[in-house]
Amino acid sequence: MFGEYPLYIRRLFCYMIVMKQTITQFFKQFPDDETCLQHLFEVRFGQGHGCSSCNRPSNWYRIKAERAYSCQWCGHHLHPTVGTPFEKTRTSLQLWFYAIWLFTTTRNGVSAKELERQLGVTYKTAWRMAGLIREHMANVDGDGELGGIWQSVEIDETYVGGAHKGGKRGRGADGKTVILGMMDDSEVVTKVVPNVKRATLMPHINETVIKGSLVNTDELKSYNSLPDHGYRHITVNHGAGQYVGKMGATVNGMEGFWSQLKRAINGTHIHVSAKHLWKYAKEAEYRFNRRDRPQMMFSELVSTFQPLTK
Ligand SMILES: [Zn+2]
Repeated sequence: MFGEYPLYIRRLFCYMIVMKQTITQFFKQFPDDETCLQHLFEVRFGQGHGCSSCNRPSNWYRIKAERAYSCQWCGHHLHPTVGTPFEKTRTSLQLWFYAIWLFTTTRNGVSAKELERQLGVTYKTAWRMAGLIREHMANVDGDGELGGIWQSVEIDETYVGGAHKGGKRGRGADGKTVILGMMDDSEVVTKVVPNVKRATLMPHINETVIKGSLVNTDELKSYNSLPDHGYRHITVNHGAGQYVGKMGATVNGMEGFWSQLKRAINGTHIHVSAKHLWKYAKEAEYRFNRRDRPQMMFSELVSTFQPLTK
């Protein structure tokens, strides 16, 4: 299907076909593993795709014995699942697609326990799938640059996990993991960091926020060197009970994001270890950055993968 069109046109077609779906539409679109594999082939390669072995544009024939297609000229095999979350798995592709569908139709994400129930797989398999889907969301989202000359960027940090609920809160609380968040008008970028020292935070800010941006932060001292790095800097003093500081300084947008992330973690997941926290932050980031077009999430996640050379 659509083999004669350039790849970006085929992707567009596939996006339109795989729009936000009801559960019925999902199973109509992907009734079995074969349709899922065919979809991956279409969005990643398509008929006419140049063979990496004989360097000729080829028609590709489905090899029934494995998840692969074969070159019409030299018999070279093409594996549409290579480089996707589904590469090293015996779980059916349809279950994977369904798991992704569940992730994109819930507001706060899906726990491994819930996946285990819904998919009828073991907890171990469900846990692994959920992790790989979150990593996939992180890859698809990427980390773009934020801000620009005179554009406003909010930077804030938060603490997640560690001390149980009702325990010590705020800076320096034992066992908590720090996340740095940066946000402009349209996008948020998060980084899990070991601490809130200036030497830790500044490299991430320099890498992500465009020089000349108007950076809004709270009164944390680590941010004091922002002007030395080419940023304009305004602060809101939460310690003094402010929500909006001089010149309209605010980090309310970031605080909204943090509460959404914490709702997702507390409501859906019993415990998130420091090691895996970045994936949950990226999942929240992925959702937040698509808050105006949630209906695109499923089609995007089953149609966007790293380009392959082989
Ligand atoms: Zn070939």
